[in-house]
Amino acid sequence: MSEISFDKPDPHDFLGIDSLLSDEEKLLRGTVRDFVQKEILPEVGDWWEAGELPHKDLAKTIGDIGLLGMHLEGYGCAGTSATAYGLACLELEAGDSGIRSFVSVQGSLAMFPIWKFGSEEQKNEWLPRMATGEVIGCFGLTEADSGSDPSSMRTNAKRDGSDWILNGSKMWITNGSIADIAVVWARTDEGVRGFIVPTDTPGFSAPEIKKKASLRASVTSELLFDNVRLPDEFVLPGVASMRGPLSCLNEARFGIAFGAMGAARACYEAALSYSKEREQFDKPIASFQLTQRKLVEMMVAVQRGTLIALHLGRRKDAGTLTPQQVSFGKFDNVRNALEVARTARSVLGANGITLEYAPMRHMANLETVFTYEGTNEIHTLIMGQAITGIEAFS
Ligand SMILES: Cc1cc2nc3c(=O)[nH]c(=O)nc-3n(C[C@H](O)[C@H](O)[C@H](O)COP(=O)(O)OP(=O)(O)OC[C@H]3O[C@@H](n4cnc5c(N)ncnc54)[C@H](O)[C@@H]3O)c2cc1C
Repeated sequence: MSEISFDKPDPHDFLGIDSLLSDEEKLLRGTVRDFVQKEILPEVGDWWEAGELPHKDLAKTIGDIGLLGMHLEGYGCAGTSATAYGLACLELEAGDSGIRSFVSVQGSLAMFPIWKFGSEEQKNEWLPRMATGEVIGCFGLTEADSGSDPSSMRTNAKRDGSDWILNGSKMWITNGSIADIAVVWARTDEGVRGFIVPTDTPGFSAPEIKKKASLRASVTSELLFDNVRLPDEFVLPGVASMRGPLSCLNEARFGIAFGAMGAARACYEAALSYSKEREQFDKPIASFQLTQRKLVEMMVAVQRGTLIALHLGRRKDAGTLTPQQVSFGKFDNVRNALEVARTARSVLGANGITLEYAPMRHMANLETVFTYEGTNEIHTLIMGQAITGIEAFS
């Protein structure tokens, strides 16, 4: 008969989730964790306060580690498993959601559509340089009046001889004003099509959106298209419907299910360590029952969410993951991460409101993560439809 072990659980891996990872996965995770420890954490509070991202250096370094488009095969991409990509997202977001967003947008939203729907020429032209970080991409779907319902987009492209003329605008575009190419989704007579728009094309501009109180270590921009002329070679040949952008979103949402647990883990760990050092009433605050309850709730949420993410990763690698299951992970892990960040902030008291500690920064970032890539409500409705068979979006 197998017996219960009386070994003490590790406070940082209570359920022993590490034992579910292969040596290769642990190695990759260790590499990303070291990178975040050495190159992100010492700086990110300052970047966040200044509202900037040293994107050129970061893109190059992250490209050198092999994280850009890492789950894609060929064309200079690393071709890792989906689970490995998820674990990288988790470690990057333990640094900052802005850094994970940079990598998600590049790999899942800009490289993936070229890899999936592009011609051989387009793949060879862009993917190798995007994998090294030499070329930065962005993904333009959302518009000022078209958010949760992207099919109501107004940006349009019309054929003009062998060219296309693109007009309209996109809003809230991550990496917009630092991108070398934008993958833009536009209405055409043939359905919704994806265009690769080099950002030095006449008529294209990308003013940066300022005054953000969330995801400050990330560039967010408008994209404006004023009669942007594009040769036919710049349209993605493989798709002419909303299936194009939606399949990219599924890729990115998958990474977020992991990433959110990185942010949550960082908050839990900050609260755990602070609570053992901070004394009030002549005792560490960790000795109070109310604090222990908070710590346990956070630990349980992080472990549970990490298990969910890993389960989704294994299903994706097995080819059995559905978009509705991705919604489950994005919905549940992001709302729980937000709750963990708020709780951790409270454990840190006044210190918790500063950028000297991570929880408040993560909390503010997670408000964006709660909204982008399908809001919490939209994922509720996706799952609601899956279990009732009734569509309740409109
Ligand atoms: C920092 C940041 C970066 C982003 N990066 C990108 C990017 O790179 N590319 C890109 O294309 N987009 C990007 N987005 C846009 C993001 O995907 C949208 O903000 C999101 O889809 C929600 O759209 P919206 O903001 O217009 O909100 P709305 O759609 O106007 O929603 C407002 C509220 O109404 C609710 N709601 C809407 N419809 C329903 C319904 N049927 N039933 C119930 N509730 C409903 C929503 O859940 C939400 O609570 C980014 C956003 C942010 C904040």
